[in-house]
Amino acid sequence: MKNSTTKKNNQYRFATQAIRTQAERTQHKEHAVPLFLTSSFMFDDAEDARATFAGEKPDRNIYSRFDNPNAQELTDKLCLLEGMEDGHVMASGMAAVFASLAPFLKQGDHLISSRSVFGNTHRIITEILPSWGVEYTYVDIHKPAEWEAAIRPNTKMIYTETPSNPALDFVDLEWLGKLGKKHNILTNVDNCFATPYLQQPAKYGIDLVVHSATKFIDGQGRVLGGAVLGRKELISKVFSFSKRTGPAISPFNAWVLSKSLETLAVRMERHCENALAVAKYLEDHPAVEWVKYPHLPSHPQYQLAKKMLLLGGGIVTFQIKGGLDAGRVFLDSLNMFSITANLGDTRSIATHPASTTHSKLSEAQRQEVGITAGLIRLSIGLEHIDDIIADLEQAL
Ligand SMILES: *Cc1c(COP(=O)(O)O)cnc(C)c1O
Repeated sequence: MKNSTTKKNNQYRFATQAIRTQAERTQHKEHAVPLFLTSSFMFDDAEDARATFAGEKPDRNIYSRFDNPNAQELTDKLCLLEGMEDGHVMASGMAAVFASLAPFLKQGDHLISSRSVFGNTHRIITEILPSWGVEYTYVDIHKPAEWEAAIRPNTKMIYTETPSNPALDFVDLEWLGKLGKKHNILTNVDNCFATPYLQQPAKYGIDLVVHSATKFIDGQGRVLGGAVLGRKELISKVFSFSKRTGPAISPFNAWVLSKSLETLAVRMERHCENALAVAKYLEDHPAVEWVKYPHLPSHPQYQLAKKMLLLGGGIVTFQIKGGLDAGRVFLDSLNMFSITANLGDTRSIATHPASTTHSKLSEAQRQEVGITAGLIRLSIGLEHIDDIIADLEQAL
């Protein structure tokens, strides 16, 4: 990542940083940040071009596959919000996940990952990386001893997703940060479900954080985006990889996502408030077998969830009585909730993971990551809470 020309505001609090970190104004002194819809940037003369390419002018833009003022602004904000030194933003969450793995793993290296990871991340770990000679071991998120026992001399990275999708299981990041340091192994956390507003893995010494910005960061179901954040020397590897292989973010998507961050704190507070109310409502409902929500005392890792997350998050999962069939009837009876694979939207969404997002896994693999046939995942939106509960009520 090149040096940034963005105005950073380290002294401010989270919500203010998300609003007041901005690309420098042009001569028009526009209040909103302009969209830099350009594939390349001009040089003053032949010498300027030579010096810029030679790396003698690190804060000059060259080409939007490398960087762009809108991408820089988004990166700078995310770095401040996550408390990370540097970062690189990309076209999607999957581009970011891949770019957080590939530059650090070569043939003969070994990767440890918690078993319950996003479906496509699972494919990268179990299909793409092994085809290039990178070995992996999956470990149980609930059994820390398994993680340490899995470490080998060639282990280069430990990857995890916490809270996990859709099981909402947690790993103690303080413990993980120490484990990585003790064995000199990189730690890498997908922080998509929490967002930096609820959880900042950097506080615990985690080396790399990846995001699908498509989810709560956009929060309005419009654009794809992703980010990798970490120390300068790690991000320079991610940047080289991305610049050469091309998963650049479109300036427009970066512009949208940077605007979205301005409202992240307010949105997350309401997502969490609504989700907690839904979780409490479902917990008392006779048609519901069980409910899982991080900040409900009934969550099996309640104490840890309280330690990790500022608020409980926007996702609630539950098991409807009557299993698969009852689940289908429930989904078809919803009037307002959308049935779609996205999450972290203003609109409330219901998903049935066993038949959609996790349908490629075998029944046994689904069991291992806590996805039962009747499991329903709700992404609670920003509609009025009375309307959200009324829709659930009539469907149940
Ligand atoms: C959606 C998601 C991704 C992938 O992000 P895309 O932007 O869809 O590529 C990665 N990790 C988690 C936890 C996700 O929910």
